[in-house]
Amino acid sequence: MVKAKIAVNGYGTIGKRVADAVQAQDDMEVIGISKTKPNYEAAVAHQLGYDIYAPAENVGAFEKAGMRAAGTIEEMIEKADLVVDCTPGGIGEGNKPLYQKAGVKAIWQGGESHTIAGFSFNAASNYEGALGRDLVRVVSCNTTGLCRVISPIDRELGVKKVRVTLARRAADPNDVKKGPINAIVPDPIKLPSHHGPDVRSVLPQIDITTAALKIPTTLMHVHTVNMEVNTDCTADDIKKIFGSQSRIRFVGQGISSTAEIIEFARDIRRPRNDMWENCIWAESITVHEKEFYFFQAIHQESIVVPENVDAIRAMMELESDGAKSIEKTNKAIGL
Ligand code: NAD
Repeated sequence: MVKAKIAVNGYGTIGKRVADAVQAQDDMEVIGISKTKPNYEAAVAHQLGYDIYAPAENVGAFEKAGMRAAGTIEEMIEKADLVVDCTPGGIGEGNKPLYQKAGVKAIWQGGESHTIAGFSFNAASNYEGALGRDLVRVVSCNTTGLCRVISPIDRELGVKKVRVTLARRAADPNDVKKGPINAIVPDPIKLPSHHGPDVRSVLPQIDITTAALKIPTTLMHVHTVNMEVNTDCTADDIKKIFGSQSRIRFVGQGISSTAEIIEFARDIRRPRNDMWENCIWAESITVHEKEFYFFQAIHQESIVVPENVDAIRAMMELESDGAKSIEKTNKAIGL
């Protein structure tokens, strides 16, 4: 089978995980990753066997550090069928002319706005809409987590409205520039937060508003979700719907915090402690008339990773059925 040639531009928190997940599939392969500097992450990428590409002015610095760059970022893009842009939010937009000049397909992440691609993606919600597209944005970690729970409930029960409060991790574990911190920050103070409109970039029919607080943790986000539906239901009905979704995991057995979820991810030997699924406390699912509530935890570093693989598969038309792509991606990464 000829594999789709994938370049990962920006090899940080998301990029390194996307590269490994792509490499685990049998219908796509990583032809290169980009690093701006020859730091420890570049050294590990080199050891893992990835071809490293660098900005033209930094290629010499890689040579000096003993990890020969395979070429410039422009050269990497020329060799690819599709580039997954995992540069920091706001930077990806500047790369668009580069991708268009090379005639490659491109995926951006949730740090960019919907308009960059004109199509925002979540595998469980709108896989088929991404088939054959040249440009796609994979929505952020929080939006992915919300779409994964809203879509199946909307299909089964009809969603009347969704109200969410998000407790957001303040920084990723390696992000020393943003810490140390000791505060709870309404973010933003002016309500609602941007997460509701972002969900509507995938699910425009959903009435949703959100509020968010930044809290001093690096592990995960926690959402308090309240949904009003059009159909009478019980907590068991909700559990059955969530239980049918492969990227939703129920947590219990004494797991009462995000710290224990990450310990659990370590125990089940997930790479980098990644928890690709939404983690819902089944015990928290409470129904009041046609309204229900629950808590879910979202691992910001990894939840969008399988979504990127599915977006590639849809854009490259390697699989036309979203459910089959989800299953294939999950199996290859060990989910
Ligand atoms: P990051 O800072 O961890 O990684 C970005 C990488 O891109 C770094 O290695 C950086 O050196 C590199 N880079 C910077 N400028 C570059 C350029 N011009 N060309 C090539 N590489 C460049 O960022 P991240 O957390 O991985 O975020 C990437 C994207 O994913 C953002 O849009 C972000 O909003 C989104 N996202 C992040 C998270 C998260 O929690 N970290 C979750 C979901 C989505």
